[in-house]
Amino acid sequence: MPHVITQSCCSDGSCVYACPVNCIHPSPDEPGFGTAEMLHIDPVACVDCGACVSACPVGAIAPDNRLTAEQLPFVALNAAYYPERPADVKVPPTSKLAPVLPAPQVRRGGADLTVAVVGSGPAGMYAADELLTQKGVRVNVFDKLPTPFGLVRAGVAPDHQNTKGVTRLFERISSRSEFAFYLNVEVGEHISHAEMLQHHHAVLYTVGAPNDRRLDIAGMELPGTGTATETVAWINGHPDFAGLAVDLRHERVVVIGNGNVALDVARILTADPDALARTDISATALRTLRNSAVREVVIAARRGPADSAFTLPELIGLTSTADVVLDADDHALVQRDLVTTTDPLALAKLEILAKLPVAADIARRPRIRLAYRLTPHRVLGTERVDGVEFRRTGTDESLRIDAGLVLTSIGYRGAPIAGLPFDEAAAAVPNRDGRVVDPATGDPVAGVYVAGWIKRGPTGFIGTNKSCAMQTVANLVDDFNAGLLGGPAARPGALDKLIRSRQPDLVDAAGWRAIDAAEIARGEAEDRVRAKFTDVADMVAAAAAVDPPPVARRLLAGLLR
Ligand code: NAP
Repeated sequence: MPHVITQSCCSDGSCVYACPVNCIHPSPDEPGFGTAEMLHIDPVACVDCGACVSACPVGAIAPDNRLTAEQLPFVALNAAYYPERPADVKVPPTSKLAPVLPAPQVRRGGADLTVAVVGSGPAGMYAADELLTQKGVRVNVFDKLPTPFGLVRAGVAPDHQNTKGVTRLFERISSRSEFAFYLNVEVGEHISHAEMLQHHHAVLYTVGAPNDRRLDIAGMELPGTGTATETVAWINGHPDFAGLAVDLRHERVVVIGNGNVALDVARILTADPDALARTDISATALRTLRNSAVREVVIAARRGPADSAFTLPELIGLTSTADVVLDADDHALVQRDLVTTTDPLALAKLEILAKLPVAADIARRPRIRLAYRLTPHRVLGTERVDGVEFRRTGTDESLRIDAGLVLTSIGYRGAPIAGLPFDEAAAAVPNRDGRVVDPATGDPVAGVYVAGWIKRGPTGFIGTNKSCAMQTVANLVDDFNAGLLGGPAARPGALDKLIRSRQPDLVDAAGWRAIDAAEIARGEAEDRVRAKFTDVADMVAAAAAVDPPPVARRLLAGLLR
């Protein structure tokens, strides 16, 4: 049975390296990898060994006879990536072995290479993993929250538990003896960038893009407006957004922008709360959804159907789990685009859109309406939002859609980091392949690196960060080997002392394990995968309830360093 890659593909490429016959493409060394929406198994070349299944961190691969009904469209999607050929011809691929990228070789003999990674999301964890492939390397991972893993915990929608399964890989990485967590520690608040450099050979920032891009139209200040990314953080119980006022007492929500985040929010706002009840969704969000009056979420895109920003795997997943409709005008746009579009990926999306029911039909349950060529003009309302006025894109025609909640979903935006240069236009730290550069001189800033969204902007999937982090780490190691990174001035052990003096509520790896165990135990009592803490004080209290007690742990940590 050939294997098939399904919706939760994270594109980290682990399957490519595991495959003995090089039948998974695009591989990280191929040009299409950076823009691919998922990876594909060649059904003719696949030898059914299952190596890719074990390697995949998100459980996205299965034999074609073990797929659920929702996953069946992925059989054709995997096969369609490869050209047709006679049954006995297994090419492409041209080479027989999977490409194995050489791991960076750290020069030995002096002090261990000690690297601070700031941000414990996917980019940070993949960077730590790559660094720790070598002996003689220590990695300290910092995060301002007491809980690690960034957007995997706070951004991936709770109905995508397979995707959240990548945390099993991250847990394995963080359990290595050369790895230390400094959680609940904010760089710039508890320790400065300059101090970080005194304690490490290099500081690698993987802080992501923490802000939303804001839509600059009238009415965005009205109650009842918000952003999709904040809403996702609220759904996921992020402590900074736990108290967000998400008012679902209205029949319609408009989401502006049609990327994957818009799809995530629309899916959750229209889902059956019972189907979410066993996930790790925040208890507050679940309660609010149970009392929701929302009957329709309109996802409004400024361009046409062929330019939809969501990915094909996510569209397949959406249409197999939710009621998705198009109104008659948008169906006409789809038909028009079907004639003029040549891009195979866009065509595949259009073919799915063309089969969707017409919005005029009576809704049996809350539904999602995909709407096109709507440029937002202003948000309407006096005391609070009651609708959005759009212009039909490219014309003066004005259209109003009534709504009680308006969420913009027009992308994330990186924020400046104290002590580092920042490119306002790109909303990223200026860098060359991960080496931070001074924009005035173009020279690298010694010892400072970036990976993930703060390096390349907010695009791609969880696994895209693996190849991104590998590139940065290769350059960092080259610089270390070339003697370009001065050794840390401070004594080993001094970092712990300094941070504990400024942040007594530091959460280390044992503390995080205690929080994790407490959340899982709370979840078991409610038949849920976990019941998250949404308050930092509760997280810190759970971390403190760890055996051995913190003082003994501190002594032990001091002895081990
Ligand atoms: P995105 O994919 O960049 O989509 C942004 C949307 O906002 C587009 O529809 C864009 O329209 C629209 N937009 C931008 N400026 C606008 C304006 N001024 N007025 C109206 N519309 C505007 O962003 P995202 O959804 O936040 O996703 C970020 C990244 O995370 C993406 O790479 C995404 O694939 C990834 N992600 C993946 C998953 C998953 O794999 N399950 C889940 C969530 C996020 P135009 O196209 O016309 O510019």
